Amino acid sequence: MSHNAESTAFRSALEVIRAVEPRVADAIGAELADQRESLKLIASENYASPATLLAMGNWFSDKYAEGTVGRRFYAGCQNVDTVEALAAEHARELFGAAHAYVQPHSGIDANLVAFWAILADRVESPALKKAQKRHVNDLTEEDWFALRRELGDQRMLGMSLDAGGHLTHGFRPNISGKMFDQRSYGTDPATGLIDYDKVAEAAREFRPLILVAGYSAYPRKVNFRIMREIADSVGATFMVDMAHFAGLVAGKVFTGDFDPVPHAHIVTTTTHKSLRGPRGGMVLCGPELADQVDRGCPMVLGGPLPHVMAAKAVALAEARRPDFADYAQRIVDNAQALADGLLRRGASLVTGGTDNHLVLIDVSGYGLTGRQAEQALLDSGIVTNRNAVPQDPNGAWYTSGIRIGTPALTTRGLGAAEMDATAELMHTVLDRTTAGTGPDGAPSKAKYVLDPAVAESVGKQAADLLTPFPLYPEVTLG
Ligand code: PLP
Repeated sequence: MSHNAESTAFRSALEVIRAVEPRVADAIGAELADQRESLKLIASENYASPATLLAMGNWFSDKYAEGTVGRRFYAGCQNVDTVEALAAEHARELFGAAHAYVQPHSGIDANLVAFWAILADRVESPALKKAQKRHVNDLTEEDWFALRRELGDQRMLGMSLDAGGHLTHGFRPNISGKMFDQRSYGTDPATGLIDYDKVAEAAREFRPLILVAGYSAYPRKVNFRIMREIADSVGATFMVDMAHFAGLVAGKVFTGDFDPVPHAHIVTTTTHKSLRGPRGGMVLCGPELADQVDRGCPMVLGGPLPHVMAAKAVALAEARRPDFADYAQRIVDNAQALADGLLRRGASLVTGGTDNHLVLIDVSGYGLTGRQAEQALLDSGIVTNRNAVPQDPNGAWYTSGIRIGTPALTTRGLGAAEMDATAELMHTVLDRTTAGTGPDGAPSKAKYVLDPAVAESVGKQAADLLTPFPLYPEVTLG
């Protein structure tokens, strides 16, 4: 491969797009420029490799392929079979799973596939059997009522949203909170850590059909061996959503009790966060649930996205290389360096630090809401997202927290020294920002005051920090 094969590929693609709709080509180019310039600390984002990106931009996008490998409802799927089988094989090998279903279009879809597979496995429901055989559009209103009657009061126990759980783990506005009779476990108010005795107590009282572990904003490892014991003690199916930390499992940073695959009955994930693949989802399970999982399409999914499955196969092949383990370890080292840098400068962190890829800062110590802090940091060239902290007095919209993560900056090559410099920049912004007032002079949870000179100076230092670590160095668009 010549040194600038990637540049040639992306340049040519943009030329072809520009001939049809130049504004789209411009937006794609502008997105690369923006990503190159921003200090991206969003814990759920990353930068996929050029090979992964390129695997998505082709004629696989044109194919319908409902069904599974070798059993399609459409003709001419032999090449889709090849990439789906490859992606599944890489996933099984990488994670040591008996079965991998690589069709889910996103993490939320992967969770829906898992929920329905568990329901079908565990609950005797003629309505569900019928629903599985028919296309969703062919179900009558009475069929849906029957489904609701037969399945409606099944129970799910998951981590609460404000403790770091995900909204698909039973949060009311999400379908999971409507499908299930749901209860959640939180974290210990003093330590911010999961209290396994409390989870066991909640499980004993509630007796859920499904116990869910996994998180979007919990900065610590979870002991999946203990969680499985709890699930077993009440006869629950144990599901782990490893969307955030799949890269750390793939890179063997999380092993033994902290690797969900040997402990859970079923594991779901996204492929685009720490795993560094295309946007998408995946389900891993043992042979007992495999048949039900494979019914994801048409139960809750439409036709698979063959171009994305091709990209999953590429990204998973990359994650099987030895250097991925080094990458995964550096993600955690960087998160710890960032946490240490913030703590040394007086920031308050939920749980007092991290042992995964993310850090949750409680910005109330700076006199700010998460919303004010997020915007002030953004003005200064630092991209984060606000997030609730446990028992957050400011709720899920304004919040009291800022969630940051290191997968993306680690992909660019930044290390511990740059993490310390990042902590200094973040602390400067948070320290120099004050809460603002509304038009009536009353305190506002959204308005803030930050000297533009500070924002500009930090923005410049953030850009300087990135200069030695170009994003997609192999791609020049000219
Ligand atoms: N599960 C967890 C733990 C997540 O953090 C997320 C995304 O933030 C999802 C599921 C949903 O993923 P997607 O946005 O791909 O649907």
